[in-house]
Amino acid sequence: MRHLTALFAGCLVMLTASANESAPAAGTPAASGAAATTAVKPAYVPPVPATKPAYVPPMSAAAQRAKEEQAELELSQKIAARLAEMRARQKARVVAAAKARKQADAKRRQDELAAAAAAEARRHRTDWSYEGETGPANWSSMNVEWAKCAGGKRQSPIDIRDGIKVDLEQISFDYRPSSFREIDNGHTIDVSVEPGNFINVANETYELQGFHFHRPSEERINGRGTEMVMHLVHKSVQGTLAVVAVLLERGKQHSLIQTVWNNLPLEKNAVVAPSIVINPNDALPEHREYYTYMGSLTAPPCTENVLYLVMKQKMQASPEQMALFSRLYPLNARPVQPGFGRVIKESN
Ligand SMILES: [Zn+2]
Repeated sequence: MRHLTALFAGCLVMLTASANESAPAAGTPAASGAAATTAVKPAYVPPVPATKPAYVPPMSAAAQRAKEEQAELELSQKIAARLAEMRARQKARVVAAAKARKQADAKRRQDELAAAAAAEARRHRTDWSYEGETGPANWSSMNVEWAKCAGGKRQSPIDIRDGIKVDLEQISFDYRPSSFREIDNGHTIDVSVEPGNFINVANETYELQGFHFHRPSEERINGRGTEMVMHLVHKSVQGTLAVVAVLLERGKQHSLIQTVWNNLPLEKNAVVAPSIVINPNDALPEHREYYTYMGSLTAPPCTENVLYLVMKQKMQASPEQMALFSRLYPLNARPVQPGFGRVIKESN
């Protein structure tokens, strides 16, 4: 049994030893280097006389056993050391694997969070436009708040046709000269007007907030649009909106538009506050007959329940005035939306 243990241990020791044998022997490179430089005749070295080996007396049995036990003890110490080393390595491997797993988990969680944040950001985009990837067909998928742009049944603009001709009440306009601010908001030229301008229609009062332009007109009458349209946006105290739309075609100069163009901001999103006033009445045609229907904002978030009042009489702007706007906004009109059987009324 002792021999078997010794044999097994011997193998282990040989394995260990073989790993240590690769250390290079010291001194050799220096010696060979010296020999290479000068070929000197070696000095005479007398032969060493063969000496008779010293007499080694045979060991006693007890001494032999003690020697064997000592060897066994050293061997078992080596085995123990080797095993401890192997266990330590195994433990280090387990620790390293656990660490790598933890890091991979953390990375995956981080990636998942980043993907979720990116998906969330994709659902809250605000960079809408009138063409391509961010155009009207994709508004609803760009932002969760803009679902109505695709799912709404009361969207604007529409092709106004087959209106019910009735004696529509006159819109009562109560506009006055007002100071204004002007901004190129990246989607249109937007003019905000100081408080104090009102319309009254269907027993509701709405206050003028401001006006802006689209090219071409968003509204169509029996399939036909015009070169531009002006939208005058009003709001009631309850917050409901009423839009007065004035279609613009080529012709003579439009004085109010000229004032607005004269004060165009030099930079997008920079607010210009001129010291002059405008009269919003100048935005209205002489005749006040109109079409009316319930629609929506024509830009995101496409909010519905907006009362549309589309003036039947068109107004004119000069070709130069049209050209100036088209340089800034060659296309900023939402396409016509389905009517879904909406009632359209028009003045007789
Ligand atoms: Zn508009």
